[in-house]
Amino acid sequence: MRWTQQLIPTLREVPQEAEIASHQLLLRAGLIRKLAGGLFTFLPLGRRALRKLEQIVREEMDRAGALEILMPAMHPQELWEQTGRFQVLRDVMFKIKDRQDRNLVLGPTHEEVVTDLIAHEVQSYRQLPINLYQIQTKFRDEIRPRFGLMRAKEFIMKDAYSFDADGAGVERSYQAMYAAYERIFQRCGLRTKAVEADSGAMGGSASHEFMVLADAGEDGLVECDACAYAANLDRAEGVSRGPRVFVDAEQLTAVAPTPSRRTVAEVAAFFQTPPARLIKTLIYVADAQPLAVLVPGNRDVNEIKLQRALQATTLALADDATVARVTGAPAGFAGPVGLPVPIFADEKLRGYRGAIAGANQPDAHRVNVDLERDVRVAAFADLSNALEGDGCPRCGAGALQARRGIEVGHVFKLGTKYSEALGAGYLDAAGQRQTPLMGCYGIGVTRTLQAVIEQSHDANGIVWPIALAPYAVEVLPINVQHGPTMQTAQALTAALEQAGLDVLLDDRDERPGVKFKDADLLGLPIRVNIGEKSLAKGVVEIKLRHSGVLTTAAPEQAPAALQACVQELWRSAAG
Ligand SMILES: [Zn+2]
Repeated sequence: MRWTQQLIPTLREVPQEAEIASHQLLLRAGLIRKLAGGLFTFLPLGRRALRKLEQIVREEMDRAGALEILMPAMHPQELWEQTGRFQVLRDVMFKIKDRQDRNLVLGPTHEEVVTDLIAHEVQSYRQLPINLYQIQTKFRDEIRPRFGLMRAKEFIMKDAYSFDADGAGVERSYQAMYAAYERIFQRCGLRTKAVEADSGAMGGSASHEFMVLADAGEDGLVECDACAYAANLDRAEGVSRGPRVFVDAEQLTAVAPTPSRRTVAEVAAFFQTPPARLIKTLIYVADAQPLAVLVPGNRDVNEIKLQRALQATTLALADDATVARVTGAPAGFAGPVGLPVPIFADEKLRGYRGAIAGANQPDAHRVNVDLERDVRVAAFADLSNALEGDGCPRCGAGALQARRGIEVGHVFKLGTKYSEALGAGYLDAAGQRQTPLMGCYGIGVTRTLQAVIEQSHDANGIVWPIALAPYAVEVLPINVQHGPTMQTAQALTAALEQAGLDVLLDDRDERPGVKFKDADLLGLPIRVNIGEKSLAKGVVEIKLRHSGVLTTAAPEQAPAALQACVQELWRSAAG
């Protein structure tokens, strides 16, 4: 393929709208263009990379025994009402009406649709297990679409759904998908980490996320420095290693003036004590009921954990009026002693004595708080985020390290939630009606493509893994006006294409500097520089993008040398 016949609109400048490297490079290398917030067009090179990624996903799903289908993106709203998820997901779903005024939604996921299909098509245990998947467009009305393909309103997902007769079957299906995901990401050249995760709106029993570790990632996670434990922050249980008793002898709690001190940092500085000694009190409203949540001063409430502990459908911080009504003080001064609402305390506060808390009055704090003596705690639970340096809950010996990650895949065990709600059932060998157990398995395909770039780039541009590179080789004639240069370039391109390689010939009549910069920006794995000087020495230059290693070959030996290079890249990619 000739560059002049392709559409590769590279950009010199870093686009202002793009905050992270991978988003900038997607735009600068001419892979995508923005239509509107969270909506993107894939240009030819982006589409080529995406097709290669989709093909890897498809091959591994097929190999794992899943069957490809294609479900509609548009769903009747009633289906979502039957499982109760119309309420749960109503804010992120695009809702539309047809000309008959029927309510439809654009699917953010497909559990409802696939379970409806299974309810109609599967009647006997002989039809189980079955695993159906698709690679298809999903829609999500993000409050703040950002980071390019990372958080878009419209994106491509691979979603798979397994149905099994019993728990052992579910375990087999789950492990088969887990293993397929490891192969998919490995083939894409991605280093991922599987972490324990929360099931969230899916509502199941077990789940793992596949994370690409990256500072630009939106998800927090922790991993143990001694064992294999790793978990999303919404699931991770850190073991606090700090003290819980801050006084030598028992002392009565008292209110002390703390003029103009309001934040944890200000109050801790005022008492010359670590923030962990403070008890933070937050007023929430869960399912219309106000309640108080206590966490150590150095930690944040994790609202996913809180919602799970309360088994609440809705949860939000209370507004100022509710805080004033519940605590009798303006917002910012809440404390746990004497509160008239149920109080839920973080597990890490158990045994706190000599602590400092809000006093439910302005410009004062309560000192010498003994949580067991002074506060009526309704329940203790894990309600706060794990922190770097916490003890590992699995091995007890290691310390947790905080990391950022990009979630590229997620596997869930779902139980019978959807099967029951949508009437899926089958007859077992004894003729008894049973409910199939379900699992679901997602890969954010467009997000994964960006994660590859986030993990594999340098200051000059993308460094494509061979498996996803839009082209394997770029042939770069330095001066297209020079006859022998162009003849060599064209002959080499033809020979490589003949051998089945994807080749891009930069036939632009541009300055060498421009062409070299663009070649690094595009990041194709192998580049061949063909110039007057090297031809005079009887060679062309072969440069590897990932290592920068430069070798030479005689023009007539170049096709064989390049094929060997490509094969070597595939070999090392296979591990
Ligand atoms: Zn550990």
